[in-house]
Order: sequence, then structure tokens, then C-alpha cells
Amino acid sequence: MDNIWGQARAELETLVGSNNYTRWLAPLELTGLKDGTAALSCPTHFLSDWVSRHYSRPILEVLNRNGTPVERLSFTVAAQPAGPAGPATAPAARAAAPRPALRGDDEMTAPLDARFTFDNFVVGKPNELAHAAARRVAEGGAVSFNPLFLYGGVGLGKTHLMHAIARDRQARDPQARILYLSAEQFMYRFVQALRERTVMDFKELFRTVDLLMVDDVQFIAGKDSTQEEFFHTFNALVDQGKQIVISADRAPGEIKDLEERIKSRLSCGLIVDLHPTDYELRLSILQSKTEQFRTIYPGLVLGTGVLEFLAHRITSNVRVLEGALQRLFAFASLMGRPIDLDMTQECLADILRASDRKVSVEEIQRKVAEHYNIRLSDLVGPKRVRTLARPRQIAMYLAKQMTSRSLPEIGRRFGGRDHTTILHGVKRIEELRSEDRSLAEDIDLLRRALEA
Ligand code: ADP
Ligand code: MG
Repeated sequence: MDNIWGQARAELETLVGSNNYTRWLAPLELTGLKDGTAALSCPTHFLSDWVSRHYSRPILEVLNRNGTPVERLSFTVAAQPAGPAGPATAPAARAAAPRPALRGDDEMTAPLDARFTFDNFVVGKPNELAHAAARRVAEGGAVSFNPLFLYGGVGLGKTHLMHAIARDRQARDPQARILYLSAEQFMYRFVQALRERTVMDFKELFRTVDLLMVDDVQFIAGKDSTQEEFFHTFNALVDQGKQIVISADRAPGEIKDLEERIKSRLSCGLIVDLHPTDYELRLSILQSKTEQFRTIYPGLVLGTGVLEFLAHRITSNVRVLEGALQRLFAFASLMGRPIDLDMTQECLADILRASDRKVSVEEIQRKVAEHYNIRLSDLVGPKRVRTLARPRQIAMYLAKQMTSRSLPEIGRRFGGRDHTTILHGVKRIEELRSEDRSLAEDIDLLRRALEA
């Protein structure tokens, strides 16, 4: 056990960097290995929460790579005051809510993931604006837009960009007080301050930062007193000219149960969305991750066409894409085989099947008709008025993009139109997309709704 963990520790330190290692991983001990679960003991709940949220993956990876097959981690808090049920164990996947304390600067900001840097962020059309805005904020200087509001679906890089901002800004200005946390943690801290009657400290802490970043702000929707406090914190910082960065899974106006005054405050700065990835971006991300994995798994052979295959087939989000690649490398290294298409299909069967849930042309037509408030029969029918023709072309475009149907097959589903008509429609929308921002937004919205 000691050997296994000793070896793993050394590699983890290289993998996550020595600061992160010392702070988060050094206190852990490996206490057991059974049925694919590695048991780790941890001095505090806080630590076990963070480790299970942020470091499960590298730990699993390193253990597996060193020939200890594990699928799960479980954490035991060793220094618990002895309760009737003994030490508490929490499975890594269902990490308990963090209970960060307001005990000074060290615990002020959530730990940053060492991998989430600007250098590791691959820029493409769907995220170039968000990336540029994030860079701008990281540079510091005069606040040009406040807040920066980043939004987009899961796994598209919001958290990555926020960590990158924090890291970069801190490197430029070591004196800057930067506070990054999720809206969930904001709430826990606030509730804790209420309970412990330390609200003044709480206010003081949040009002003296230079850069505040709150991730996944949709979480506070419907939580009235937290929203209220957030609103005041927000205003106080904006008044002092301090930069704020917010992320959410949707645009401010679309977050239900968020107070109007907060929505309008959030909309005052720059709102940028991270679009769903396109094929080119997915391929670049895969190439970049492959480079990183090569340092961990030297000597692995990657067959041609594997990355292209993955970029085509796994379209859901970057996290899934990354997970797939990681599993593939780990598998190939364990089996001592080169990575080819056969192995890819075998090893990733479940992920591939899940992303195969393709939408049908009919679903697309229904959604588009609903969105533009027209009848489905008109959408596929022969009338050529513009109010019908444009949505029809959008539906054709989405059908081509989102399904694997051929042009003639799509034509048949659009009232027996010729494949050239479909091609024309698809081309037309491609042209319009780059000129007409509101049309581009409509399309993204529809696509997201269909992918959900
Ligand atoms: P979100 O917060 O939007 O749900 P994350 O920032 O957590 O998404 O990203 C999910 C995973 O995908 C992370 O591991 C992140 O590093 C990776 N990722 C997302 N976008 C990119 C990108 N453009 N380049 C490199 N990695 C990315
Ligand atoms: Mg996130």
C-alpha cells in the first residue's frame, strides 16, 4: 500500500504542480484497496470535498497507470470527533457540499485547477469572443466592462476561463485580492455567516476584493436572501470600480427566479456566450490534449483517423470529449496496444452510443415551427412566403448539421423537395449566419434546445 501510494504521490506532484500538491494532496493517505475502490483518508471534510471534486481524476489516472486498477475513490475523514457511526465516508462521485470557513485569506478562494490556464485553452470560432474578453479582464487595468458575463452549456469552458483569469491576473499582480468561488459556495458562506453571526466579516471580506468571480450564478435563482446579499456585494464592488466576472448556464434574462434588478445589473457589462463546439474546435482540442497525454503515456501509438472519428462522433461537450480520450489512453496503456479505430469503438462503446442519440428531422421541424410560431404543415408545405421560407431553410440547415441524413432523404421529409433545394437552403443559412446576428442566435438557441 505504502509503495503504491508513494509512487502515486510523486507522479501526482508532477501532474498537478507542487503548490496544489502540497495544499491538497499531501495530507492524503491511502488506507485500502478493494473491489475497484481506493480508500483515502483525509484530515478534514473540507479537504475531502475539494479533493474529490477537483483531483479525483488525476488520482484515478495515476493509480491505474501504475497498475492498480481502481474505478472509484472513497474518502474517510480521519480526525473526526468519534461519533456513534464512526468515521464518515463519502463516495467521490457524490461529493458533499463544501463547508468553507471564513478563516482568513488561505481559505478565501476556491482552489484553482492547475490545468485550467490560458495556455491550455484551445481557441476556435465558438469561443473566441469569450476567450478575448477573459484575456482582457486578466490583463487588469481600467475596467472596461463590468461585469463580464460568460454563459453557455455545460462543459464548454466557462470554469476553465475563470480559473485562467484568476491565475493570470494573480501572476501579473501578486498583490491583487482575487476571489473565485461558485455561487453555491457564496451561498454556503453567507448562510454560515448568518448562523455564526459573522455577517459583518462576510460583507467586509467580499467588499475588499479587487476581482470577484462567481461561477454558475444560476444556482442562486430562487434563493431570496442569498440573491439580496449578492446584489449588494455586486453593487458595492461595481461602485468601487472593481472587476466582476460571472458565469451561468444561460443568458441573464433567461434565468428563471432571478430578481429583475439583478438581471438588469448583470446585463450592464459585456455578455458573451460560449457556443457549442464545432468540428474544427473539437479536433484542435483533441490534438492539444493528445500532446498532454503523450507526456503521461510516452510511447503510445495513435492510429490515423482516431481523433477525427472522435471529433465527429462526440459532439456533446468538451468534458465528455476529454474523458473519452483519457479513457482511451489509459486503456491502451493497460492493454499495451496501439490505439486504432477498432479499439476506440470497443473502449468507448457506451460514450459513443450516448452521443448517438441523434435528433430526428421531424423533431427539428417541430421545434423550428414552434419557435417561429408557424404550423408544421406550413413549414414542410409548398408556400413560399418569406415568413415560412426562412424558418424552413433553418430547419433544413439544422437537419443537415444535426442528423446524418443525406440531402435527398432530408428533401423527402420536407414535402418531397429536390436535394438541390435543400442544398440551396443550407447554403443560404450558412451565408446569413455570419451577417445576421439575431438569426445566428436563433439557430444556436434551437440547436441547444434540440441537444438538451
Ligand atoms: P463549464 O464550466 O463551461 O461547464 P469547464 O470549464 O469545466 O466547463 O470545461 C470542461 C472541461 O473541458 C474542462 O476539463 C476544460 O479544461 C475542458 N475545456 C473546455 N473548453 C476547452 C477548450 N477550449 N480548450 C481546452 N479545454 C477545454
Ligand atoms: Mg463550470
